[in-house]
Amino acid sequence: MTRHNGSRGRAALSLAVLAVAMSVPQQASAQAARPATIQATVAITNVTVIPMDRERTLADQTVIIRGGRIETVGDAARTSVPADATRMDGRGKFLMPGLAEMHAHVPPGNPTDEQLNDIMFLYVANGVTTIRGMLGAPYQIELRRRLASGELLGPRFFAAAPSLNGNSAPNPAAAVAAVRAAKAAGYDLMKIHPGLSLETWDAAVAELKAQGMTFAGHVPAAVGVVHAMQSGIATIDHVDGYLEASVRDSSVHRTPGSTMGEMIESIDNVKFRELAEMTARLGVWNVPTMYLWENFYGNRSPEELGALPEMRYAHPDQVNAWKSQRRNRSLGDANQGLTPERRERYLLLRREMLKALADAGAPLLMGTDSPQMFNVPGFALHRELQVARAAGLSRYQVLESGTRNVGRYVASSLKQDGAFGTVAAGQWADLVLLDGNPLEDLENLTRRSGVFVRGRWVSAAEITEGLNRLAAKYAALRQGGDE
Ligand SMILES: [Zn+2]
Repeated sequence: MTRHNGSRGRAALSLAVLAVAMSVPQQASAQAARPATIQATVAITNVTVIPMDRERTLADQTVIIRGGRIETVGDAARTSVPADATRMDGRGKFLMPGLAEMHAHVPPGNPTDEQLNDIMFLYVANGVTTIRGMLGAPYQIELRRRLASGELLGPRFFAAAPSLNGNSAPNPAAAVAAVRAAKAAGYDLMKIHPGLSLETWDAAVAELKAQGMTFAGHVPAAVGVVHAMQSGIATIDHVDGYLEASVRDSSVHRTPGSTMGEMIESIDNVKFRELAEMTARLGVWNVPTMYLWENFYGNRSPEELGALPEMRYAHPDQVNAWKSQRRNRSLGDANQGLTPERRERYLLLRREMLKALADAGAPLLMGTDSPQMFNVPGFALHRELQVARAAGLSRYQVLESGTRNVGRYVASSLKQDGAFGTVAAGQWADLVLLDGNPLEDLENLTRRSGVFVRGRWVSAAEITEGLNRLAAKYAALRQGGDE
């Protein structure tokens, strides 16, 4: 591994060398060899800024980006463009912060650089400049550094540790040992999966607090959402635990043999408001991952889902695996008493719970759980925000969950540099330049002129080229598979 320990100049030189060295084995990946000039000074003139500090737009601005950060945001008429800046005409365009995928599953094991390049490119191509990895693996500590240094083009990356769950933490001692190992390895947070006993949960929480580490993810059934929140869980993902806590008869989802279908029948949405208010009061974040549940329980067949346009950019083996997962799930649904009516009701209740959280002012973060079932990295986020919108959130609330809130979460919960997610002087230049206003139509988020990744401009042409290269690679694999 190359070590970066020199001055800025030396770091820049190693990046240039790496860009050349990396181009050889990666010709097939989505990213082309990158120029060494990663952080040029850029002036975007006469652009409409969507600062995301509150719901407003600022017309006719000049934004100057230097050294990876926003140096100036000012009225175009009064802001002079530095002589060394590359000018970009922003007329008719909208500049907003990059989006975030706060529940990414970056592959475990040891993915190749080509695989990592392709995944990270999909995020950038979709305007995603921050991800939080929620499926930890040891190599991701190094991956985080490579992304931060610009050695690998991609979003900034916060890495959760391999999860605490019923297998990794079968008892309190095992949980404490796992927490200590995660802290020593340098992960940013602890991921929680189902299966922890209440006793193990409490021991883990005590150790996490002693280690100064936040924890996030699922709500184990034995813990329940109320106790999880009172324990200080930082983010609840997948709206986990809320519906279970809203059943009229709490024996229904605890009794062995009772089905999910019966649980759904027993949910009383009157309880949503109280739970949402408690969430807001305790300042617990939610990453609702709504779109994945639509894929789990919605009416679209595996074939329909597998034929969505973004499936071009997923490995054919992956798409086939998703299809068989979806078919197996349908079989399991029957055993769980999940009739089509109950599945529909379940999805509706999840939307109602999300709306209750938003109405109560509980803080929300955007995330999809990609690449879980039919969630293509980056593309899935644009499906997610449509579901959040359909649940009744305003466009601004949806955008805020993927921008400003993310910077706030990183600063307040992870205690790290959260200087992104708004467009203002001093913030990191993680930005998307759009051809339409997303506050008027969220579809405009897909009309991109380009993306800034910490000041490094990735143009629409570069994005299209990379996506085409990826689609061609996977199309060739599909052809090969048919022979
Ligand atoms: Zn997950």
